[in-house]
Amino acid sequence: MKNEYDVLIAGTGVAGLYAALNFDPEVRVLVLSKKEVGICNSMLAQGGVAAVVDKTNDDYRLHIADTLIAGGYKNDLRSLEILVNEGPEDVLRLIKEMGVEFDRDETMNISMTLEGGHSRRRILHHKDSTGREITEKLLAAARSKPNIKILEYAHLATLTRSGGGFWAGVLVNGEFQYISCSYCILCTGGIGRVYAYTTNSATATGDGITLAYELGARIKNLRLIQFHPTAFAAAQGRERFLISEAVRGEGALLLNCHGERFMHRYDERGELAPRDVVSRSIMLETARTGSDKFYLDITGRGEDFIRNRFPMIYKRCLEEGVDITRKYIPVFPCQHYLMGGIDVNVYGDTTVDRLYAAGECSHTGVHGRNRLASNSLLEALVFARRCTYDISRRMRHEESGVDGPPPAPPAGSRQLPKGYRTAIRSIMQKAWFVIPDYEAVREGIVQAKEILEDLRNGDYAVTSDYLEAKSLATICTIILNEVLENQGKEDLLD
Ligand SMILES: Cc1cc2nc3c(=O)[nH]c(=O)nc-3n(C[C@H](O)[C@H](O)[C@H](O)COP(=O)(O)OP(=O)(O)OC[C@H]3O[C@@H](n4cnc5c(N)ncnc54)[C@H](O)[C@@H]3O)c2cc1C
Repeated sequence: MKNEYDVLIAGTGVAGLYAALNFDPEVRVLVLSKKEVGICNSMLAQGGVAAVVDKTNDDYRLHIADTLIAGGYKNDLRSLEILVNEGPEDVLRLIKEMGVEFDRDETMNISMTLEGGHSRRRILHHKDSTGREITEKLLAAARSKPNIKILEYAHLATLTRSGGGFWAGVLVNGEFQYISCSYCILCTGGIGRVYAYTTNSATATGDGITLAYELGARIKNLRLIQFHPTAFAAAQGRERFLISEAVRGEGALLLNCHGERFMHRYDERGELAPRDVVSRSIMLETARTGSDKFYLDITGRGEDFIRNRFPMIYKRCLEEGVDITRKYIPVFPCQHYLMGGIDVNVYGDTTVDRLYAAGECSHTGVHGRNRLASNSLLEALVFARRCTYDISRRMRHEESGVDGPPPAPPAGSRQLPKGYRTAIRSIMQKAWFVIPDYEAVREGIVQAKEILEDLRNGDYAVTSDYLEAKSLATICTIILNEVLENQGKEDLLD
């Protein structure tokens, strides 16, 4: 049976859209977005994308060295070399082919900024909304291609291998239907919503990782989670607004409850130490002072600079009642990024035949123990493109087509009781936040297992709420088991 699509891509962030755009025009591509296309982590990226495009003042070897230092030398060197060597070409393609605009100086050269852990100014940025600029331009390009179909409110619910392809069970506007495809690329983003407080968008519930796990794919290093040190410390709300690393890069000072700088107590790199070090220092300083009040002070850069360089951060903080040109910004760490994910090779190929993964849901190994700032958009671009090379090569010599009809659609009918997602979030927040609490990890494993068993066997109707609760419970279980297995090892910084 001929499949409806050659390639199904789950996700309309940078990874999903860039993958779609890299296929030849005769390849029939379907791209799914769980909610409206604008809701994804890519749209939230502020700081920029790291790449060695200025070869006079920078060098590939320096970018590799900086990434290795941030990653605690646990990075996969082959993937990292590919990232750093091939990435600049992808970034230049964004400018030349997609019309992405990065900030430029008065001589029209691209102006690079600095972020924590980088030894050179190599971050290309579009003010403080780089992710929005890139994603919107990719979206416009994808929408103009006749071979690419984008489906919004299309939640990938099940994935079943069949012959030369997959049956993908998709909730389209709440209605379950099967779609056949020859290859599938999971670009479903991160897992932030497994935490009570995160910078991640509402779509970051680990769905792709859960689907891959259920298919038997190897999942790697899910315990390696980055906690960003400087999210806006709002009084309420789950999604925390990020105060970009670039604010420290441009000279902001990090202060404790007494208004004193303290980073030098913990690391000689001060405010520009890598994120894990700064987050951990904040937790240690909390214990030392007994206060969880921390601030960023950028007032020294003056009003004109701040309003021009950080217009979005300025506006968002003002909405929260803080004029950052005059006042300190209240900050505290929160969940931000996942280094682990679906294990892939350098072509994004997973351990399941015809299943690929790219972007934040994948584990290429480039980040090691801790991601260097602004390397993730680069990773999404480079490895999404590489997936398309491998799939296109295979399409030339492999037969495709599912075997027979799709499986029976899910038959459950009970409504999901309220509270499962909240329960999972509080388990995670207690058990593994910056510094692990092993007693809470052990308790959390038992609680999450019970929730997961009920979700799997409870005859529930397959809705988006149900699917997200199942994803969160699955992700929580994998992470906490990994944390326990790695107790005492250096990569948890306990
Ligand atoms: C606040 C913030 C700031 C950041 N700043 C930077 C930065 O400056 N530089 C940098 O390099 N990185 C930054 N990052 C990280 C970076 O933005 C992400 O790692 C990257 O954008 C991930 O892209 P992605 O395409 O993998 O996932 P996303 O952009 O999150 O896209 C995921 C897509 O998957 C879809 N999806 C999910 N589940 C399903 C499902 N079941 N069915 C169908 N579709 C599904 C979603 O609808 C969405 O379209 C930042 C992240 C955040 C949250």
